[in-house]
Amino acid sequence: MAHRVGSLCEDLYPPSKSFSEKAFVSSMEEYSEMYAKSIREPATFWRPTAEILGIKSTSEEKDFVSWNFNPQKGPIHVEWLKGAQANMCYSALDLNIQRGLGDNVAFYWEGNEPEDDSVMTYKQLFVEVCKFANVLKKHGVKKGDRVAIYMPMVPSLVVAMLACTRIGAPHSIVFGGFSSGSLKDRIIDSSCSILITADGVYRGTKCVALKDICDQVDEVCEPEWVDCEDTLFLLYTSGSTGKPKGVLHTTGGYMMTAYSTFKYVFDYHPGDIYWCTADIGWITGHTYVTYGPLLNGATSVLFEGVPTYPDGGRFWAVVDKYKVTQLYTAPTAIRLLMKMGDSIVKRYSRKSLKVLGTVGEPINPEAWMWYHHVVGDSGCPIVDTFWQTETGGHVITPLPGATVAKPGSATFPFFGVVPVILDENGRELNGECEGYLCFSQPWPGIMRTVFGDHERFETTYFKKFPGYYTTGDGARRDTDGYIWVTGRIDDMLNVSGHLLSTAEVESCLVEEQSVAESAVVSRPHPVKGECLYCFVTPMDGVAFTDALVAALKERIREKIGPFACPDFIQYAPVLPKTRSGKIMRRVLRKIAAGETNLGDVSTLADQSSVESLMRHRLD
Ligand code: ATP
Ligand code: MG
Repeated sequence: MAHRVGSLCEDLYPPSKSFSEKAFVSSMEEYSEMYAKSIREPATFWRPTAEILGIKSTSEEKDFVSWNFNPQKGPIHVEWLKGAQANMCYSALDLNIQRGLGDNVAFYWEGNEPEDDSVMTYKQLFVEVCKFANVLKKHGVKKGDRVAIYMPMVPSLVVAMLACTRIGAPHSIVFGGFSSGSLKDRIIDSSCSILITADGVYRGTKCVALKDICDQVDEVCEPEWVDCEDTLFLLYTSGSTGKPKGVLHTTGGYMMTAYSTFKYVFDYHPGDIYWCTADIGWITGHTYVTYGPLLNGATSVLFEGVPTYPDGGRFWAVVDKYKVTQLYTAPTAIRLLMKMGDSIVKRYSRKSLKVLGTVGEPINPEAWMWYHHVVGDSGCPIVDTFWQTETGGHVITPLPGATVAKPGSATFPFFGVVPVILDENGRELNGECEGYLCFSQPWPGIMRTVFGDHERFETTYFKKFPGYYTTGDGARRDTDGYIWVTGRIDDMLNVSGHLLSTAEVESCLVEEQSVAESAVVSRPHPVKGECLYCFVTPMDGVAFTDALVAALKERIREKIGPFACPDFIQYAPVLPKTRSGKIMRRVLRKIAAGETNLGDVSTLADQSSVESLMRHRLD
């Protein structure tokens, strides 16, 4: 891949002195020291975390970590603390209760309707989990049996997850918005023996009313100790780039990653109220709604609703209602709320906020700035966390009290993570560069395999560059060593021999005041090889006119260069997104090329978005 240094925002945003003073990691020096130790001596670095989590060393435990990333040297494998014993539920509940947090709130549940809410303490959660774990046992679920869960964002979903982990049964959660067909595919692929849903438990064709049974059963259920390398859960990826992959995570390593990333990246302290808006059906919900917060004994908000109901002020109303200190959401939600204007945000205090987080896609500097200046009143550090279903937790991210942020950059690696940028030939690039984002060694929470298909695991992540885990994303490193994730390698654009990232062009388009959102793809071109085809959603109330199109072309010509000037700019009432909120550029590429077979669209949130885009297609 050719080197190309873009014109992304280079402003610096250091954390305030008062924030840094109270933070777990307060300076880049401190971060660098901890980071170096995590790479040099992983066992010394992670052992205290394993102890805090109650992981039990046994005589069976051999190496702290053992791994191979090179398919030419044998099968790919990663093991952390193999032979040691753990139980996720024990660490998340029993230990916190023993430490005196039993009466602390685990979750404030906020329903879809603003007046619909409830509270659950650690002790109450514990009782519900034990009761439900006994129900599962009564229905024959044993250690190692896979359990499918298909539920909305209600506290019982957390209860169901923890009950599975208590008895050592891996869960496979299917996002509640999926159709019955998608649910069926996932149950078959993961060969689950039982399904838990909102209204009951289904075993074979027999439906068991969950509530009734739970009310009668036993409140005592001893945790089932499992090997640290036993499966904790399976989870399917979002399907942005192709058919979803059934990612498998194991127990001990995932716990260490979930615990430590939550603690350091959100800088969670006792008394804080944390809120992650993601659905538990996605990895962000697994690690940062359920496991990360509970392992830290944190108090969180669990939100069933959407950002725009009953109106576009809902997020800020919830922030004020619970005095939220850390808010974690996605660029797609930030852009949606930004589109509605500042006045609705300013109706609310938001004074409690301390840290703002984002995840899911590259965040364009425009949205970053708005999040920082408007939502956070210029006072909250922003953590732009890069990670994947596969990585289990954050891998490239700022630490709010230490990192000097640059809007749009995920900045530096988390502890234990070694990012490298490779060229097409697999050579590691140094200094200022752009290429394939890969990792050269495992951290505790990295996935272990694709369920039932170890070959797909090896082919997808390790074949292209033996010796490295390949993320599938492109990245550039700037002169200060900051990492900028530029988007999917599949989405890179090659126009007349110039390589461009979609993020760069999209970022330029949304800088135009009247543009709310955009997606850029390439379309085959007889002369240039590829040309740019842009989809543009105007701000509410703004018309899509020839003058706007001309202004956008001019802007790209000026900011990026004449070679990048798009051949097509199409009106997009809405963009096709996965149910986890990411733009599906592979579908847009097909629309731009005039194809009608759009591939696997099972994870597309709104099928009608595609039809309206087809209608406005340009030739
Ligand atoms: P699939 O793997 O099925 O195509 P997916 O990659 O969208 O779907 P996820 O695991 O949910 O599934 O998303 C991970 C991807 O999200 C990353 O590979 C990256 O492209 C993007 N991403 C997540 N966070 C960030 C971020 N902070 N900055 C840039 N990109 C991000
Ligand atoms: Mg992916």
